[in-house]
Amino acid sequence: MPESVTMDKIVSLCKRRGFIFQSSEIYGGLASCWDYGPVGVELKRNVKNAWWRSIVESRGDVVGLDCSIMMHPMVWKASGHLEGFSDPLVECKACHMRWRADQLEKAACPSCEGEITEPRNFNLMFKTFMGPIEEDAAVVFLRPETAQGIFVNFENVVTTSRKRLPLGIAQMGKTFRNEITPGNFTFRTREFEQMELEFFVKPGTDEEWYQYWAKERLDWYVGLGIREENLRLRDHEKDELAHYAKACVDIEYLFPIGWSELEGIANRTDFDLSQHSKWSGKDLSYLDPQTSERYVPYVIEPSAGADRSVLAFLVDAYREEEVEGATRVVLKLHPSLAPVKVAVLPLSRNEKLTPLARDVYERLRCSFVTEYDDTQSIGRRYRRQDEIGTPLCVTIDFESLEDNQVTIRDRDTLAQIRLPIAELEGTLSAKLSGEGFGTDSLWAGARA
Ligand SMILES: [Zn+2]
Repeated sequence: MPESVTMDKIVSLCKRRGFIFQSSEIYGGLASCWDYGPVGVELKRNVKNAWWRSIVESRGDVVGLDCSIMMHPMVWKASGHLEGFSDPLVECKACHMRWRADQLEKAACPSCEGEITEPRNFNLMFKTFMGPIEEDAAVVFLRPETAQGIFVNFENVVTTSRKRLPLGIAQMGKTFRNEITPGNFTFRTREFEQMELEFFVKPGTDEEWYQYWAKERLDWYVGLGIREENLRLRDHEKDELAHYAKACVDIEYLFPIGWSELEGIANRTDFDLSQHSKWSGKDLSYLDPQTSERYVPYVIEPSAGADRSVLAFLVDAYREEEVEGATRVVLKLHPSLAPVKVAVLPLSRNEKLTPLARDVYERLRCSFVTEYDDTQSIGRRYRRQDEIGTPLCVTIDFESLEDNQVTIRDRDTLAQIRLPIAELEGTLSAKLSGEGFGTDSLWAGARA
């Protein structure tokens, strides 16, 4: 991580350019809740789409699912969340601030040095009531993980998808955890979006699949542009393991707050299916049609966070460069993640230039996420596109009216080429799909 990237700079860029805003800001904000703005929502969608493509669409052995957030309360009894999904909470007797006991370095309040209470278990699930009566029988929880929706649908999916094991079931969606100490921007929040895969395998093959998925998931981040030196795998110690896991490895990223979890890959064994069999009375074992063996599958779970991934992609893409004596802030996002692919920028807002520029914009819009901008100076508009990570800018100037040629500017190298409008779409498309970056003869002679 270059020293220049701080969380403050990322937060400031996100607000300035419309990636992420504080929730309910006009009322003073709601702690640890964040809203994705116009370019932020595009970035997040691109991250989720890339995950779905890689996990579901590009494979023959994974299918998707989209479950409800509220589920039968027995689900959380069987999964162990009612009993065990808690953090040790202490309270300061003087200022009444609350802390996680396992995060305190000494037995005093970090805020006022006051005496703290004995720890008590605080369940992290959000509780609400279904229907008009607030009584115990109507209690439901907002899901603290998307995984359980997959486990309770295991039989439905196997039956209807006509697939054999090994088989994965993937789900993306909102999840809620009433964290005692959220923070660090979107790194730890109480409402977040998970991208989870439960990969069901025959017991005995689980360790091989565990290794496979750890590597596969690490490669995914690298393939989307995160620098390898900012990623590492960290095995959980035995005493760190969740109650259901036989092994767990974190993919950690070097965030501005230090090495922190980006994604966890866990071997959940047959814990969840066995528990749901026990509590529901439904047999959730699997009959192998080829060998006629019956077994309760083991599960390998790569569990990623969409919000945390977005943060890592933002941090890793953030650069400050010296260009002609000034500092240029640029997001070197992978083209497939960039919120806007192409910006059409007439040299100035001018009645002669506008018709041609609008015409180019309308054409490109059919093929790429394209933005049109003719406000302010061209320098300021380039600056904005650099800061939202737009890979390519197309500039229309007065010469374009004569020769029907336009200029393309490359975000990363600042190289520019001039080419006929008729060749524009093909060239942009090749450039965005990674073809010819650096080696393309068309760009070889380009000047920065
Ligand atoms: Zn205190």
